[in-house]
Amino acid sequence: LPLEDLDQALRSRAARVIPGGMWGHQNITRMPVGYPQYFSRAEGCRTWDANGRGYIDYICAWGPMILGYGDPEVEAAAEAQRRLGDGMNGPSARLVELAELVVDVVPHADWAMFSKNGTDATTACLTIARAGTGRRKIILARGAYHGAIPWCSPSVVGVTEEDRAHLIYFDYNDIASLENAVDQAGDDLAAILVSAFKHDLGKEHVLPTVDFARRARALADATGAALIVDDVRAGFRLDLGGSWECVGVRPDLAAWSKAIANGYALAAVTGNDRFREGATKIFTTGSFWTASVSMAAAIATISKLRRIDAVGIMTRMGQRLRDGLAHQAARHGVGLQQSGPVQMPLVLFEGDADRRLGHAFCLALLERGVYMHPTHTMFLSAAHTEADIDATLAATDEALAAVARL
Ligand code: PMP
Repeated sequence: LPLEDLDQALRSRAARVIPGGMWGHQNITRMPVGYPQYFSRAEGCRTWDANGRGYIDYICAWGPMILGYGDPEVEAAAEAQRRLGDGMNGPSARLVELAELVVDVVPHADWAMFSKNGTDATTACLTIARAGTGRRKIILARGAYHGAIPWCSPSVVGVTEEDRAHLIYFDYNDIASLENAVDQAGDDLAAILVSAFKHDLGKEHVLPTVDFARRARALADATGAALIVDDVRAGFRLDLGGSWECVGVRPDLAAWSKAIANGYALAAVTGNDRFREGATKIFTTGSFWTASVSMAAAIATISKLRRIDAVGIMTRMGQRLRDGLAHQAARHGVGLQQSGPVQMPLVLFEGDADRRLGHAFCLALLERGVYMHPTHTMFLSAAHTEADIDATLAATDEALAAVARL
């Protein structure tokens, strides 16, 4: 086969043995034609598709890659643990070491528990809140993503109403609607669940206002409910201690995953002493939840994030990208809408309901060796350097010129 057909060949084989060729949002048929489905390798802030085309990556494996693909420190820690043992009859000392590290780094945390996926962690937060309060209702923001099982999946195909019993919705950052949802829950409110910031697919991203965050904290305190921050997507990119440190509000429980082990499969729930008993009483486990390699990777990841001030690096690189893009957009007369924290940017185009401009922009970038996404939160990493940002900006300048001609 000619090299350029490897991706297509894999898609054809997949169509026979994988329903729909691929599940979920990573099914590339949801994307404009031109995006690769398969990847062959990754290193630093670069990834190569199955056809060998390399890209500066702004999706970072959808968030997990935060120090660079194949970070030497993380890989050395994982490799050393792999030689000792990964899945065993119970955890290794890495479990306790990691819990101690997380409790040290995260101010609201008096304890930590570990699992594999973000959905494990968000779901456990709900169960712990219900166990701790003896109540049922959870209030959460309309349109927010918290995972892919029936209580929270963005699709209702195969989902029953009963799967979502006891959920009440409010609008993110809207204090009146939050208060209204709390009223509706009456004396049965177990938890207020919020994303780190509003990062709904395809919509302008919005940081939490200090007033909204404080009101959520006050309502949880007044009702005895848990305040839960879903930090699965944003965790370790805004503030190592948890994203709501940025607005000065501490949750009772938080869900983490994605970046915690620089690509190794791990999730965490952190909580304070008020919910220690609830967390003690619930039954939760998984065949792979005590595996030690990902825990060794997490210890190395969090230690390095702290040592090199990774948040500072990502903030500087993200700001360089945002400033460069804003300058170029003005020069080309293109209405660019940049939102979200600079470490986790979303780039949309004004008046682009059908995504014609966004798709053209991203496809032009793919051709120039830059992988961006037209509608999903993107991610900077500590492996992106000024040279990478400047190479990216050289590509965006041409891509924006192409968009301006449309
Ligand atoms: N919450 C948020 C905010 C997320 O972004 C995600 C994953 N995109 C999840 C929960 C679910 O995590 P996972 O896909 O690892 O189950």
